[in-house]
Amino acid sequence: RSKEIVENLNLHIKEVGMEDSVQILTTGCFGFCEKGPIVKILPDNTFYVQVKPEDVEEIVKEHIVKGRKVERLLYVNPTTSDSVSDSKHMEFYKKQMRVALRNCGFIDPENIEEYIARDGYGALGKVLSMTQQEVIDEMKKSGLRGRGGGGFPTGLKWEFAYKNKSDQKYVVCNADEGDPGAFMDRSILEGDPHSIVEAMAICGYAIGANRGLVYIRAEYPLAVKRLETAILAAREYGLLGHDILGTGFDFDIEIKFGAGAFVCGEETALIHSMEGMRGEPTTKPPFPAESGYWGKPTNVNNVETFANVPVVFLKGADWFSKIGTEKSKGTKVFALAGKINNVGLIEVPMGITLREVIYDIGGGIKDGKKFKAVQTGGPSGGCLTEKDLDTPIDFDNLIAKGSMMGSGGMIVMDETDCMPAVAKFYLEFTEEESCGKCTPCRVGTKRLLEILEKIIAGNGTMEDLETLKELSQVIKDTALCGLGQTAPNPILSTLEAFEDEYIAHVRDHK
Ligand code: SF4
Repeated sequence: RSKEIVENLNLHIKEVGMEDSVQILTTGCFGFCEKGPIVKILPDNTFYVQVKPEDVEEIVKEHIVKGRKVERLLYVNPTTSDSVSDSKHMEFYKKQMRVALRNCGFIDPENIEEYIARDGYGALGKVLSMTQQEVIDEMKKSGLRGRGGGGFPTGLKWEFAYKNKSDQKYVVCNADEGDPGAFMDRSILEGDPHSIVEAMAICGYAIGANRGLVYIRAEYPLAVKRLETAILAAREYGLLGHDILGTGFDFDIEIKFGAGAFVCGEETALIHSMEGMRGEPTTKPPFPAESGYWGKPTNVNNVETFANVPVVFLKGADWFSKIGTEKSKGTKVFALAGKINNVGLIEVPMGITLREVIYDIGGGIKDGKKFKAVQTGGPSGGCLTEKDLDTPIDFDNLIAKGSMMGSGGMIVMDETDCMPAVAKFYLEFTEEESCGKCTPCRVGTKRLLEILEKIIAGNGTMEDLETLKELSQVIKDTALCGLGQTAPNPILSTLEAFEDEYIAHVRDHK
């Protein structure tokens, strides 16, 4: 539909003879998936939602020609029923803070000059006049932690790779986004690919690498196309390749395709896959910073982590570290989905509460139903309930509550959802995605799923319920990589908060 909308805009603007005074830009995602396709009119910042190709003629003839807003296409806040025409007054955007998503929805991602006009490549220019240690110190000072799930301090990771001396080092961008429901990396690559190119060059300079690789899902064709276009344009402008900006620093990027295996998001599996081997994790140490791609020091960060990097240097580590909580600095992008009014991609300062995310930004639960739980961290995470709604969201608080940040999936459930069925949904995913290398995960997740299916079908016993708990703990303690170690989390966390629902399914419960 968006393509047709653009075609119709071109057609009707030509029809009214305004093709020389009105510019039509195709941008990346605004984040408000629930209300797309979106047409934004500047300079008055009018935000039209759920636009259909047949609405375009009215937008052009009424708004663009006569300056009269098309009321029926404006957004209505679900809690106040106010019709608002400007994103500043929309509940969905009010509490958001856009750092990683700063350019998404604002620039044409295929035009390098639009990125440059918004300070793009300014951070790279700044970094190239600093020493490598100064760059790493600034990163450490910012407090930025990896957004792919682990939350490891980015500056420290860069320092490890910098200190390992080698004739060849690599920078890898992990764009193998695989959590069900999470699409922030895709959105950044589609909406602002130059921010990743720039950040990888900064990292390359800091650690002493001249080659970068982006490992991206082949199922993301638009993201791939925009990244390829960005790499070509950056080379043309002397911002990638040989002797960048006349400083003698060489750095270039190539793209490697993943085939959609969830486990390849784990950095050792990702590196094996890039080398043409089976995408299976190996034990750490050695960490990639010491022995990564082809045995050379390699720094791996995910897309969202890299998207923050230019801002750290443009605005300074002090500015960045003022956002968030004591140990989790900056913002986090979440894919807000499930039984909520405003579904979409949101970016919020760390420390915001779940209540603010679900009720203020998310506009509350759909159809006036009651909130029951929210799953954070995707298939590796856990369920949080009513009692957790006022907990500030950060890496450590979520772990303390039995869940995790993960890559930022956030699925909201209402009073009608069956929690053992929710756990089964996630377990089916991890069982299917287990690479099979180690027994606890390969066999254990299969057995867990069998027991869970038996319980949900009403054929389980209290003994089965006990086995479910014990086996979950064994898998957590003995699986080789994060996929297996966290696969039982949805079972354990739903059991903790909703054991009565499991017991109600059990055949012999009294
Ligand atoms: Fe493979 Fe699972 Fe073992 Fe990880 S835990 S190595 S995904 S079998």
